Amino acid sequence: MDYEKIFKEIYVDLAKIEDTGQVSNYIPELSKVDPNSFGVQLTTIHGEKYAYGDSNVRFSIQSIAKVFSYVLAYSRIKSDLWHRVGVEPSGTAFNSLVQLENDLGIPRNPFINAGAIVICDILVSELDSPKEDMLTFVRELSGVDSINFNKRVAESERMNGFRNFALVNFMKSFGNILNDIDEVMDLYFHICSIEMSCEELSKSFLFLANNGVVPYSNNRILSPSRTKRANALMQTCGFYDEAGQFTFKVGLPGKSGIGGGIVAVHPEKYCITVWSPRLNPKGNSYKGMLFLEEFTTHTKLSIF
Ligand code: GLU
Repeated sequence: MDYEKIFKEIYVDLAKIEDTGQVSNYIPELSKVDPNSFGVQLTTIHGEKYAYGDSNVRFSIQSIAKVFSYVLAYSRIKSDLWHRVGVEPSGTAFNSLVQLENDLGIPRNPFINAGAIVICDILVSELDSPKEDMLTFVRELSGVDSINFNKRVAESERMNGFRNFALVNFMKSFGNILNDIDEVMDLYFHICSIEMSCEELSKSFLFLANNGVVPYSNNRILSPSRTKRANALMQTCGFYDEAGQFTFKVGLPGKSGIGGGIVAVHPEKYCITVWSPRLNPKGNSYKGMLFLEEFTTHTKLSIF
């Protein structure tokens, strides 16, 4: 299939639709991005690559990084993760506090902020140098050594992270945070600040399309059964309270971030990443969602 031609056709089609989305202003650093940026990259498990637009430009991957931290924790810890964090879609906003009280400080899943903060607590307990180990992990997955945190974004997250601090304090009151709050949040904010391009992201997520093995290094990251679970969690929980919409319209497991990126995986086939910074009211990329909907409809390459 001529994916690059298809990308161009969809891009031209979507240019006719007004982009009603808004660039995230959750922290000042994120609002500095060019709102009209657009990139897409598809990488197959056999190593074919197809790109369009700003596919090589790095952007703030934000919550997409929650998949990396979850996989790192899931691949390293011997104990059971699932008494600390659930596997149900939240149906509430990514930074919601309301459910946590009823759920006694156990977040619904690892991809909402509260869940990702618990994962960071686990990584702080398990790893000698959590921030460096996290970067090493992402660099290994992508094969790119220059991937890094953006210190200004991490600092901006910390300065403006009142709600995230509320979440961590609330969970600590229920005994679901074991380490020092500042240490846990330092890791969380740094993870959110990682910058990667569509090309780097689609390569890094390929192991999830390949039964847990990085195709170009043969390095096993997760067992097939844990890979199945990671994909299932992305399918049900990867898009805040719009996970149903994404499944309905696109039909692939995936994860979005408020930097405007979306990564989606077709098990046994490919990984696709799209970046368009203007977000819909739920915090997902407005044109990114539309692009992937057109793409899987056009190519019939969804899992359903
Ligand atoms: N850094 C953002 C936060 O902690 C991430 C949000 C996102 O991408 O969903 O709220």
